[in-house]
Parts: sequence; structure tokens; C-alpha cells
Amino acid sequence: MSNDRTPRRGVLLIVASPSGAGKTSLCRRLMADHGGLQLSVSMTTRGIRPGEVADRDYHFVSPETFQQGIDDNAFLEWADVHGNRYGSPRAPIDKALSEGRDVLFDIDWQGAAQIAEKCPEDAVRVFILPPSLEELRRRLVTRSQDAPEVIERRIANAKGEIEHCSEFDYVFVNDDFDRSYAELAHIYHAERSRRFRNIWVRGYQASLLAEDV
Ligand code: 5GP
Repeated sequence: MSNDRTPRRGVLLIVASPSGAGKTSLCRRLMADHGGLQLSVSMTTRGIRPGEVADRDYHFVSPETFQQGIDDNAFLEWADVHGNRYGSPRAPIDKALSEGRDVLFDIDWQGAAQIAEKCPEDAVRVFILPPSLEELRRRLVTRSQDAPEVIERRIANAKGEIEHCSEFDYVFVNDDFDRSYAELAHIYHAERSRRFRNIWVRGYQASLLAEDV
């Protein structure tokens, strides 16, 4: 019997949280553990941070290049976040889905809302809450990737983002990395197994029923 698990409808797994809630580390681990999951590398007008790698973490572009992307309808979604523009390029997402792969998005609530509206069946929205805003500040300061005024702006914005967590399908608090990772992986596994995504099951079912036993 064939082991082929295609064709299938890919999951658009969207993970959002205020900056510093730990979502990027959780997403990296999920990617490392799941070969069939492809990260959507966003385009952004923000400057590169120490430790970041261009075209791995983001495609860093000028405001003019970003505007061209908007004009060309090249984004599945885009938004202004913390004074910069961020967007999810459409072409790699379409390619991944056509190959039966899943796509992971590390984006904000505005992008999550846009994708859920455009792809209501395929989008799965997960919101990660910080244990407290005090802990969020501590993590942003410890990570020391941003200037103090940028950190203050991000904390001020966090409340606005947290207000939107009720729009998400799944919500949990990241107070322990391993437990949160298990939560995220369980959500992904359950969503992957939904029958409507596994179109191949019809043929598989027929071949099981045709077995002469
Ligand atoms: P950071 O500058 O800390 O990397 O990201 C700031 C915020 O922008 C984070 O909440 C991040 O998830 C979000 N973000 C990153 N890429 C995108 C994107 O393509 N679209 C949207 N809407 N938000 C994004």
C-alpha cells in the first residue's frame, strides 16, 4: 500500500504575540522538528538587528521596494507594526501549498486577521500571551536587541495586541518554554490531521476496503 500522503490541503499556521512573549523561539523549534513546515519569511522596512541574518529572518527592504510589493499585490497580507511595514510575500506561500506543505507565520494580529479572512478554512490562529507585562519588559531588556525607547514603545503596544487575542482559535500563556512548545506542537498536529486537509484519505480508504482479507 502506498505511503503517499498527497494531495493534502496545507495548514496556514499563524502564531502571534506581543514582542518578547517568546513566539520566535517557539516557531524556530517547531520548524526544526517538522520538515514539512515552511516558514514564511516576511519582508520588512525595519533595520536589521544584531544577530539577524538577511533573507533568513526577514527580507530587509527599503520603503520604496515595500511599496512596489503592495502595488504589485505581492503580499498575502501586510501591516504597519511599531512604525515599520511588514508583509508576507505571496509567491513562496502559494508554492508551498501547491506542494502539499504547511506554512508557519510569525506575524501580528493584523496580518492574522487578513489571512483568516482570505483563507478561512486553511488559517489556524494561535496567540501566545506573556506571563505578565513586567516579565515582557524583562525579556525585552535581557534580549537587549532594541534601544530603550523602542522597548518602551513595544511594551506600550503590547496591550493593544493583547486586546486582540479573543479573535484567535487557540491561546496559551508562555510561562515555560517546554510546556508551551508541547502546546503549540499539539495544536499543529491536531490541525494537520483534520480530515478535510487530508484529501489522499479517500483513495487510501478505498484501497483499504478493497483489501482481500
Ligand atoms: P520584530 O520587529 O520584533 O521582528 O516584529 C515586530 C512584529 O511584527 C512582531 O509581532 C512580528 O510578529 C510582526 N511581523 C513580522 N512579520 C510580519 C508580517 O509579515 N506581517 C505582519 N502583519 N506582521 C509581521
